[in-house]
Amino acid sequence: MQVKIPETSLDELRRTLSGQVITPEDAEYDEARKVWNGDIDRRPAAIAKCRTVADVQAAVGFARKEGLPVAVRSGGHSFPGHSVADGALVVDVRQINQVSLDAANRRVTVGGGAVWSEVDAVTVPHRLAVTGGHVTHTGVAALTLGGGVGHLMRGFGLSSDNLLNAEIVTADGRVLQASETETPDLFWAIRGGGGNFGIATRLEFQLHPMPETVFGGMIFYAPENGLELMRRYNEICKTMPDSVTTILAYLHAPPFPFVPPEVQFKPGYAVIAVCTDQAVGEKILAPLRKFGPPLFEMIAPLPYPAVQSLFDPALPPGTKGYLNGHYFSDLSEDLIQSVHSHTAQMPPGHSQMLILQLGGAVGRVPEGKTAFGGRQAQYLSMFVGIWEETGDRAPAVAWARGFTSDTEKLSMGGSYVNLADEMSETKLANSYGRETYDKLAKLKAKYDPQNVFRLNQNIRPKA
Ligand SMILES: Cc1cc2nc3c(=O)[nH]c(=O)nc-3n(C[C@H](O)[C@H](O)[C@H](O)COP(=O)(O)OP(=O)(O)OC[C@H]3O[C@@H](n4cnc5c(N)ncnc54)[C@H](O)[C@@H]3O)c2cc1C
Repeated sequence: MQVKIPETSLDELRRTLSGQVITPEDAEYDEARKVWNGDIDRRPAAIAKCRTVADVQAAVGFARKEGLPVAVRSGGHSFPGHSVADGALVVDVRQINQVSLDAANRRVTVGGGAVWSEVDAVTVPHRLAVTGGHVTHTGVAALTLGGGVGHLMRGFGLSSDNLLNAEIVTADGRVLQASETETPDLFWAIRGGGGNFGIATRLEFQLHPMPETVFGGMIFYAPENGLELMRRYNEICKTMPDSVTTILAYLHAPPFPFVPPEVQFKPGYAVIAVCTDQAVGEKILAPLRKFGPPLFEMIAPLPYPAVQSLFDPALPPGTKGYLNGHYFSDLSEDLIQSVHSHTAQMPPGHSQMLILQLGGAVGRVPEGKTAFGGRQAQYLSMFVGIWEETGDRAPAVAWARGFTSDTEKLSMGGSYVNLADEMSETKLANSYGRETYDKLAKLKAKYDPQNVFRLNQNIRPKA
């Protein structure tokens, strides 16, 4: 049922906000309620396009006064569609996307609505970068607040490990500065606790020097080489230097010029690697480049943005997808066998399996130093069902769900909050670890006792 906000209330919101207020009567409504996942079709009561921090404060206050659920939106990339909900007020901060660089101190300040391509455009020309997501169009704030895994993480840490401070609009409309010295408990919570504690309107990151090119790309193998590839990959990962971050994948070969025509669109395993030190990368990847032999490889010195956008064509906005996964401590023989039997059943189309290698700088931060919960994990799996036609939805979702449930017993019991379907409270607590989860629940009671920010992997307030 469509929720209708009284016209007099809407007029008041329109007068207060410097940005636009969009309602179901407006021509822009259908475009404005779309999110990245094309499977999500929800009808919010209104969308408040915020341009300033004062707009964000006013929008949150308005939603509370009118009793509307608050859906915060920046890049719109939540797989379960947390940034739009039926009958909610969408607080859309996408226009707060200013990025400013302090090259001398290697710092970048980013608006709470920016996406990663906007950050890279400013930092990369100065040969500086911070860990961002694996595609360029995810939102910076939400990705960072959940943790932030990406191609540079084993060397530079998670996106959130590089967060120096943030400006947060809380549920009661205050604007708080969060850093190691100002509201440090909030700063701890937002480095892993997601959007539970407020709306980030500004974030400042530490940057790292980057080589002119990174050595990276993909090596692609026939499905029948999978078992042996995974065993060898697991061995190599045990001694992987921090300057190399890899992903093991099962996907369809893209129709790119470097892919032989007979391999294009065929499924197979892939190792995707990004190395900030070419010599180290060449040495460690040499055995994998010989094994098989691969059906093709595209691995070369590339500008960082080229590597960063490698997955963009495979995951454009409007993709219909379902995703779930787990943290793993090891790529054990049982897991390898299970992965191999499930990849063999992957439905036709664009579904994928990705296993991200963690460790390195991510694993060296002590558990509990920030709220992020995956420090002990060596791998993070993502089973992604993708479909185009309505009729293909059920097999793609069933494949990803089956993969998830069959591998659960081999997992660490939790997963990464940003790359998972709606989590049960048990899985959420496992994802953080019980101690961290309890601390987060207490801080939720302090900063958002009424659970205003609940459209997320929700941590319920506990007094
Ligand atoms: C194609 C694709 C690739 C991805 N790759 C990666 C990856 O490489 N690494 C990784 O770590 N994650 C990745 N993700 C997951 C991504 O980090 C999360 O979905 C993240 O929440 C997306 O942020 P967003 O602003 O785009 O999403 P939105 O849908 O706008 O927001 C997601 C959640 O965050 C909240 N939120 C949004 N903006 C703010 C804000 N400014 N302050 C507080 N809360 C906010 C929303 O309410 C919602 O609950 C990927 C997702 C997709 C779809």
